[in-house]
Amino acid sequence: MYEEFTDHTEDTTANVTPDIDLFVPQPDRTPKRRMEAGRTGRKVSNILIVGSIAAGAIYVGEQIGEQVAEAFTTCQTTSASDIHRAEQLLNAPLNPDIPRRTSQQLNTYGGTASQRLDRAHTLVRQDMAKRYGVTVFDDAPYVNKLVHRGDRHLLRPLPFNTYLHTAQQFLGKYGIQLQTTIPDSLKGHEGAQQATASQLEEPAAKANVISIMDGVTTMPKEYVAMAGLRHIYLASIPDEKARLPLRGDVTVDAFARVNDQHDTIVYNADTPSPLTPDTIRHETMHLADISECGNSYAIQKDPQYSAINAGVPYGQANPSTLESQQLLLDAKEFDLRRALDLGRSKKACVLEQDIATVGQTIKQNTQYGNTNLIEDKAEVGATLFTPEQHSRMLDPRLPALRQKFTLLVARILKRQPAVAQWVASIGQHWPAASANPAQPDERCHVSP
Ligand SMILES: [Zn+2]
Repeated sequence: MYEEFTDHTEDTTANVTPDIDLFVPQPDRTPKRRMEAGRTGRKVSNILIVGSIAAGAIYVGEQIGEQVAEAFTTCQTTSASDIHRAEQLLNAPLNPDIPRRTSQQLNTYGGTASQRLDRAHTLVRQDMAKRYGVTVFDDAPYVNKLVHRGDRHLLRPLPFNTYLHTAQQFLGKYGIQLQTTIPDSLKGHEGAQQATASQLEEPAAKANVISIMDGVTTMPKEYVAMAGLRHIYLASIPDEKARLPLRGDVTVDAFARVNDQHDTIVYNADTPSPLTPDTIRHETMHLADISECGNSYAIQKDPQYSAINAGVPYGQANPSTLESQQLLLDAKEFDLRRALDLGRSKKACVLEQDIATVGQTIKQNTQYGNTNLIEDKAEVGATLFTPEQHSRMLDPRLPALRQKFTLLVARILKRQPAVAQWVASIGQHWPAASANPAQPDERCHVSP
């Protein structure tokens, strides 16, 4: 159906103008985020603030010795052979021995679109876990005790303690303790304080308990262990407490504690609306990052990862994120499909070149990932566990995202090969995934 196709121009390159600038986000649409660092005596504190969209913050504030050898302040290089192995995993053709769930199969489960999506995630996770010998747990039997018909919007009228105990049982399978009693050592970080009993009885707190389960269930137990996550605290983080000097107005929804133990995430129970499961994936990646790089300095000095940006700095001056260019790319791809269907090969080549040109400028997947290096890693790391995002992250026309994704998989590969294999396979076996990722038409000579 191409009734709306009104492009009557000749098949020529002359009338096609790249319109990249049209989708540059306005600065005022990007929340203010910044990094603050201070040093007093032997106490070093770096507070990296994140905002409400990506819903995370990272706190570094541990006593460390005066002598920090430079050798220990740089994240180690992942070997070329590990990266090559990761590339092979991610590029592997679909394994014909593994039956692939089809969209039709998944549609038979009924429910809302998001419930079918949940179901698809669960099945693909379980299929691949069985195949590659990693451990995943389905949170549905637990969540279903707390909501009607599996619908996260329909909370059952149960006391908070029932929510808490149910989540504790589920998270216990991963060796994670969920607690609401905030230890003194955490009080005050990012404004975190003890949530009151009445705050915890609010629907948002209960929904956040479910969102924690929904986030953790997407990750294998072996990955959680590798990252070191052992404690999740449900706290109250009032907005006004987060407005510390030099920090601007930020809402802290969650933060990971990136000390030597790197085992703790603090989650804001007291949010206007529930946080998404991405929050836990993002924060867990901060923990995985420090377990990989070794300390809270090294995660910020990661030359191998930084090099992928090819000198383009982080910050609002650089608007080139997938999130900001998504509409443009989608529109170009739509036009490209039409041009191919209509046999307009020259126009298709121009569109392919346009897409490749935009793709070259994209360095981060989300606006929030454009904050700084460690938030970039956390945002890319969160996508490892959402298979529907894999084909975009591995799109050869977005080479920076592809390299970052591959590097993070390589870092898992050298420590937990089965987890890396599982990560690669959930994307390849996602029902909607293309078995053959989009490749530029050879006849176009698109130079990426
Ligand atoms: Zn973060």
